Amino acid sequence: MSVRVRFAPSPTGYLHVGGARTALYNYLHARRAGGVFVLRIEDTDAERSTPESLAAIYDSMRWLGLAWDEGPDAGGAHGPYIQSERRARYRAHAGTLLAARRAYPCYCTPAELEARREQQLARGEPPRYDGRCRALDAAARAAHEAAGRPAALRFALEDSGEVAWDDAVRGRVAFRSDVLDDFVILRSDGLPTYNFACVVDDHEMEISDVIRGDDHISNTPRQILLDRAFGWTPPRFAHVPMILGSDGTRLSKRHGATSVSSYRDMGILPEALVNFLALLGWSLDGQRELFSLAELEQLFSIDRVGSNPAIFNIEKLEWMNGQHMKRLAEDDRLARVEAFLAAHGRDVSAHPREWRAALVRAIGDRLKTLADAERYGAFALDDALAVDPIAWSELLEKPDVGPRLASLADRVAADSEFSLASLEQVTRGLAAELGIKAGDLMSAARVALTGRKVAPGLFEVMTLLGREKAVRRLRDAASRWAEERQARTV
Ligand code: GLU
Repeated sequence: MSVRVRFAPSPTGYLHVGGARTALYNYLHARRAGGVFVLRIEDTDAERSTPESLAAIYDSMRWLGLAWDEGPDAGGAHGPYIQSERRARYRAHAGTLLAARRAYPCYCTPAELEARREQQLARGEPPRYDGRCRALDAAARAAHEAAGRPAALRFALEDSGEVAWDDAVRGRVAFRSDVLDDFVILRSDGLPTYNFACVVDDHEMEISDVIRGDDHISNTPRQILLDRAFGWTPPRFAHVPMILGSDGTRLSKRHGATSVSSYRDMGILPEALVNFLALLGWSLDGQRELFSLAELEQLFSIDRVGSNPAIFNIEKLEWMNGQHMKRLAEDDRLARVEAFLAAHGRDVSAHPREWRAALVRAIGDRLKTLADAERYGAFALDDALAVDPIAWSELLEKPDVGPRLASLADRVAADSEFSLASLEQVTRGLAAELGIKAGDLMSAARVALTGRKVAPGLFEVMTLLGREKAVRRLRDAASRWAEERQARTV
């Protein structure tokens, strides 16, 4: 049987990193096997599904590079791929179960169900449907219909002792079927429940493997029983353990960002997020950590996904991002930085290409995330200089610093060559004349020119600013130094 997998998000919010990992594992499983990756939209919860959320899911999947072979806007022979467009199919399949007496109409109202549920709980029993409408005879049904009572359709469960499957991640999993009840398959508004729509779609879309989060494990016996009632072979299942936050509880907003798009906004590369998510549960050999998507497509195997929950460690993601940043070709790195800056309101296209490339080179290894281009490049990108008060007090509030910076400004203004080499010579020459350490002069100048202690190399900074701006900032710092001194002595 050929491999066909699906990722089946509900468009009720952004794409969560956990969902993205599920999508990735499905994608990789398909690619490795030369199979098909289907995207199916589970929007039967009409109240919570929104077009914005659907657009956000597509956008995040595309950004990650998880191209689907079949699905909305990709087409395919098993469509439609949006559940709200498949209602007639669910009704037809529900009709089959009804005719085979494996489903029956239920006229119980929500209030009646709730009252019985509370009684069961009060008696210390697990709440489950008591099968009342299963026992109705034709006359009783006709009476309910005549009274215009809305009917849901319930699955008529057969006690089969045990429902079990061999899970690709967890091994053999078994449930006693008597913990289940006659669950609803079609609501009274005609919409299918998740379990029913899922089974119908997985069958019609010829899904061979269902890879999903283990929060769905309790749905699996219901789905297998539905498959059996139809006479269909259930897919193979792989239930992937959940992702935990640093404190060992389920990853949530309390731990920080959980949407794919927020990592994009932080300047994480899709390559790094894919790599990081792949390793949240899977490993090749317990050693190797860096993989491209293309490599994962060759190497991933669902058998090597562990059954222990994985911890989402943001420092690790940032480290990985730095590694992937280094792997990018220079042109590519520059293009990503430019796109990131543009998306964050800093259009750099007015600067010559060579200048932009020099800025990225100057930031060098400090470029761990694309946002570092903003952080370490702001001195050159913005006209106004924001000075870090701590950097100022540590490096500028010292005797003689102002006049030294003023002298450096004069020397820089007079340096006709204005190259990295000449600027270095000028700066070191001045320090020697003054009898001070070149490093001291340079760190004060770095704060004067960039506003920060940690910044690219001083001479790169000067050439990026250009003579005029560099001289002006050195003089501005010298004046501020003098004013503050004055203010203190008065
Ligand atoms: N729509 C379900 C979800 O988002 C899909 C579950 C499944 O993969 O069967 O959790």
